[in-house]
Amino acid sequence: MSSLDVGVVGAGIVGLSAAINIQRLIRRVKVTVVADNFGRDTATPVTPCIFLPIPSCIRGVDSTKASEWLTDSWTHHYQMANSPEGKESGQSFMSGHYLWSHLPDRPNKIMPTLVKEYHLLDEQEKEALHFTYRHACRITTVVIDPIKYMQWLMKEFRQRGGQVVSDTAYSLQQLYGQFDVVVNCVGTRGRETVQDPYLVPVKGYVVQVEHECPKNFLITDDPITVIPHAESSIVDVGHILEPDVFSQEKNMELVELLLNKVKALVPSLMGSTVIESYVSRRPYRSPPLIKIEMVRCGGPVLPVVHNIGQGLETVTLAWGMGAEVAHLVQDVLRLVKPFPHMCRPFNTLA
Ligand SMILES: Cc1cc2nc3c(=O)[nH]c(=O)nc-3n(C[C@H](O)[C@H](O)[C@H](O)COP(=O)(O)OP(=O)(O)OC[C@H]3O[C@@H](n4cnc5c(N)ncnc54)[C@H](O)[C@@H]3O)c2cc1C
Repeated sequence: MSSLDVGVVGAGIVGLSAAINIQRLIRRVKVTVVADNFGRDTATPVTPCIFLPIPSCIRGVDSTKASEWLTDSWTHHYQMANSPEGKESGQSFMSGHYLWSHLPDRPNKIMPTLVKEYHLLDEQEKEALHFTYRHACRITTVVIDPIKYMQWLMKEFRQRGGQVVSDTAYSLQQLYGQFDVVVNCVGTRGRETVQDPYLVPVKGYVVQVEHECPKNFLITDDPITVIPHAESSIVDVGHILEPDVFSQEKNMELVELLLNKVKALVPSLMGSTVIESYVSRRPYRSPPLIKIEMVRCGGPVLPVVHNIGQGLETVTLAWGMGAEVAHLVQDVLRLVKPFPHMCRPFNTLA
């Protein structure tokens, strides 16, 4: 074992974002990603993700902390979207409308300061567009193609010397002796791997339809999303959300209900052809779990940094929370380095 060995459990967007942030922040660190699913086999969506910075959507977290994560993530994705690399890494810009009636922080203070363009619609403008929500804004923001982005993350991780191990960790204690610190990024499987009872899946539906329409998105706070793919005539519409539902079974009545809600909101989608529908599961926790825990492994302890439960905001938050995870790992390494016997089996001590 080298002097600084970090094991990240999970190769989804959350795990890879944390792994790269650790590589960037800490010198002479060896980072290994341990996972049993990679790439398309993770929960990474096919749907483009619109970057909507809304701190109050991050339940249980004070708005200063939420704004910090969102700002770090935004800076990363905005810089990528503005660079030639953005084409490969999946970031670009898209305009559209966000409509809301219920969210508490009106107006959202951080969104206008971050996104590329922001315009709050007045009553006349809302009426002209037949928007019945209490508030509406038109914004230009970053849209992330998660499939391209995942490929970029893995390439970047490997280029920085990252190692990948394909294995199942039945518990984090199983990794004791292999790493100085373990980072828990297991997503929805947090219940079984770290026995976190507060982590629940949120089941949602996404329907892909074929439709020639303006390349603008529409998102509401109840929540409905209409997101066109940049390079085809496919439009993804989502969600009906079912919290704490573990089954992956598709309820066709809910798919129908979703389509009807979306068509009422965007009548131009009437008559579009349904291509496919998906069930999505997002790991949700209020608040997300991001903290250091000294996990007992008999006598010694295994330092763990938890990073799970980003829920509906997973793609938006992964980079910003990954930056905080890197600082927590740095703190742990400073703490345990003078006391190696606490954390390693005696036979591995140099
Ligand atoms: C159709 C669809 C649309 C979506 N839209 C959005 C959206 O618009 N915005 C958004 O933010 N989110 C969206 N999501 C959800 C989002 O994609 C997921 O929440 C996110 O990808 C989860 O990332 P993750 O890294 O936390 O977990 P995962 O991608 O599930 O990765 C978990 C990783 O941990 C590994 N792992 C777990 N347990 C173990 C273990 N015991 N041992 C070894 N390895 C283990 C797995 O192998 C995997 O590599 C959508 C999802 C779908 C399917």
